[in-house]
Amino acid sequence: MKKIVKIIFISILLIILFPLYASTENIPWYKDAVFYEIFVRSFADSDGDKIGDLIGLTQKINYLNTGSKESENDLKIDAIWLMPIFSSVSYHGYDVTDYYDINPEYGILEDFETFISEAHKRGIKVILDLVVNHTSSKHPWFISASSSYTSPYRDYYVWSTQKPDKGPVNLWYQKPTGYYYALFWSEMPDLNFDNPKVRQEVKKIAKFWIEKGVDGFRLDAAKSIYDENYKNISWWQEFYNYLRGIKPDIYLVGEVWDNEFTIAEYYKGLPSNFNFPLSDKIISSVANQKDLGIVEFINYERDLFRENNSDFADAIFLRNHDQNRVKTGFGGNIDKAILAASIYLTLPGTPFIYYGEEIGMEGAKPDEYIREPFKWTDDMKSPEQTYWIKPFYNLPNNGISVETLDKDPKSILNQYRKLIRSRINHKALALGDIEKVKTKDNSTLAYIRYYGDEKILVIHNLNRVQNTFSLKDNVQEIIYLRNVILNENELILGAFSTAIVKIP
Ligand code: CA
Repeated sequence: MKKIVKIIFISILLIILFPLYASTENIPWYKDAVFYEIFVRSFADSDGDKIGDLIGLTQKINYLNTGSKESENDLKIDAIWLMPIFSSVSYHGYDVTDYYDINPEYGILEDFETFISEAHKRGIKVILDLVVNHTSSKHPWFISASSSYTSPYRDYYVWSTQKPDKGPVNLWYQKPTGYYYALFWSEMPDLNFDNPKVRQEVKKIAKFWIEKGVDGFRLDAAKSIYDENYKNISWWQEFYNYLRGIKPDIYLVGEVWDNEFTIAEYYKGLPSNFNFPLSDKIISSVANQKDLGIVEFINYERDLFRENNSDFADAIFLRNHDQNRVKTGFGGNIDKAILAASIYLTLPGTPFIYYGEEIGMEGAKPDEYIREPFKWTDDMKSPEQTYWIKPFYNLPNNGISVETLDKDPKSILNQYRKLIRSRINHKALALGDIEKVKTKDNSTLAYIRYYGDEKILVIHNLNRVQNTFSLKDNVQEIIYLRNVILNENELILGAFSTAIVKIP
């Protein structure tokens, strides 16, 4: 009898304590993080050669997050995604020649160790771009593999003695020893993931950087390792399981540039994937000045993702280094750029900010011009200013720089700072579910975010015409207002405005 009582008592205790444990301890760090994507070459220079480097980045880290809760002039991001920093023969680094060393233009391994230790001191996590679908044609593995049939690295790549007559024949390139497969470019030969040695090498590379302190990886071309999705998913599953054995809270985010069905498939193998369709939905809604069903789409997507992974972390963003910059997509309209930010930074998911987005930098393809030097001062003459390319969009003295925007409380930079802080201070904005609130017409977008007993109402006016929104509840706390007047039980919504309020 006594035993039964004891068991019942312990069971009740567990039932009471488990939700508490689950709601605090069990949430992976990346679920409520805000990421910032950095192209090192364009960010900050330390040695006067005008090429961004790791020492320069470390010197400017307080711009991103000082690590102090009280500081007001930092962005307060939680994590950094560094675009490729390994040895490479290109300006962008997506063709690696040595996976164990830093691009000499960016510094040396010791600079990376200093950077990661300064980042961690401030509570900033660091993930690296891992580009393993292919190597550079100048990688020693490929040089050896292509020079001899008997090279130990021959089977690291995909070879055919005759030019294949089936499939995408134009993706095969000739060397004296045969034809090799290269999906993206002749100088980026694809690695052969059917070779267990290649899988071992890739695991070894990841382990090396985890031991240097990195917190995760962004997986370049995650759906291109094989033609078939199921084979890619199975490989990433194997990779993720291996890495979790080394570092249980490792974060992996896949670049699966595809529709929501394909992205959902990859959640079988990966904890996080970039949400390309959502970014298009947000941007077209803002561009067209009407909500095209953002909340309905998110909830529908989240149901799809959840089916394959109950613990999915939806990586949301506006634009990345492969796409025209968001403000340029709005014809340079700064209010629309701020509105788009106000939308995605109040949605469920893990937001990724592309460097320069927060100061309203512009850019359109070719790629170099969507990766232009970050502007620290308006005259672009400060010591940390990079200038590896002559900018076409973000010119000196155009009024857009950290220095100029910092002083203007209404600037896009200060909106990003406020919106990120709203997310930090209100768990519902970072972790809560989302439910649509009906509005008079689709030029107003409203939703509630829920978490525990916290309830936050977010309202955007997507139109340039003033609008109103009737509040059903009393406002408990005004979290963020931009171009909005709170009048009794009504919000007067100015052009492209946003209100975030706490309700009972
Ligand atoms: Ca430099």
